[in-house]
Amino acid sequence: MTLDNSFSGEEILTWRRFQLSKGGRSVDLDWLLDIGGGLSWGDLQMMKIFEETNYQLDLSLVELSVIWMRFLNQKIPLQYQVGRCPWRDFELEVNPSVLIPRHETELMIDLAIKKLKPIEKRRGRWVDLGTGSGALAIALSRSFPQWMGHAVDCSEKALSIAQKNIEKLASNSTIDMHLGNWWDPLKNWLGTFDLAIANPPYIPKSHFEKLDSIVRDNEPHLALFGGKDGLDCCREIIHGSMKGLRGGGWLIIEHHFDQSERVLGILKKNGFLDVQFENDLEGIRRFALGRHP
Ligand code: GLN
Repeated sequence: MTLDNSFSGEEILTWRRFQLSKGGRSVDLDWLLDIGGGLSWGDLQMMKIFEETNYQLDLSLVELSVIWMRFLNQKIPLQYQVGRCPWRDFELEVNPSVLIPRHETELMIDLAIKKLKPIEKRRGRWVDLGTGSGALAIALSRSFPQWMGHAVDCSEKALSIAQKNIEKLASNSTIDMHLGNWWDPLKNWLGTFDLAIANPPYIPKSHFEKLDSIVRDNEPHLALFGGKDGLDCCREIIHGSMKGLRGGGWLIIEHHFDQSERVLGILKKNGFLDVQFENDLEGIRRFALGRHP
């Protein structure tokens, strides 16, 4: 950080007004000022009153303008440009090899805690199938500190980002990383898992054109599209979970906004018990759960 990145409140507010005059939403620009510039929402409010105060930013206003322009004109996600994304109580490194972790996915950890009660059950084994940036794996290892964890991904590039994030954010954890397809690399542990969690690619191929171009043109298709009806990976994961989980173990899986009935049906067809859905923050059925008999 150099002194060049010191700006008065007035300069920052003028810059902010000018950037918003070019387009975009203040919520995104303020996200950039926070995550890219290191300027909190509280700082922004204070500077409206104390315009003379100087603020030391992590990036210069010129650098932040370039990012904002690439976001507005080329539709490149801010998270990829900044290289980071806050999620639950930590900040992940991200790049275009991994899906940008979504807020709704954060809820899966709360569901896991509710179902597994880590305090009561001190030891156990979880797996995050399709870990991407490692978001779910890191949150699980923080919530289930005594448990053994496994993180699987079929992309070598994703696995290396996940590894980096895990080293930084869950350094005391015991997480085995596996390169491969869903349950395939876990042959040695089949039947030993208390929890399997997955946010698989679930967007139907037919939605390709309808998908927001900022997602479609930047995020890895491997992490987005789940075949013709979007459920190819869901079916594979659920089927594998019958062998992977131990009796009483839980599977928690995220799916598309209109797939609840079908995913619950696949769980039932495979013999899962206590099959149920949970809503996301918007009140949409987003998660399916089932317990191994
Ligand atoms: N939730 C993401 C989206 O709607 C998709 C992620 C996924 O397919 N798992 O863009």
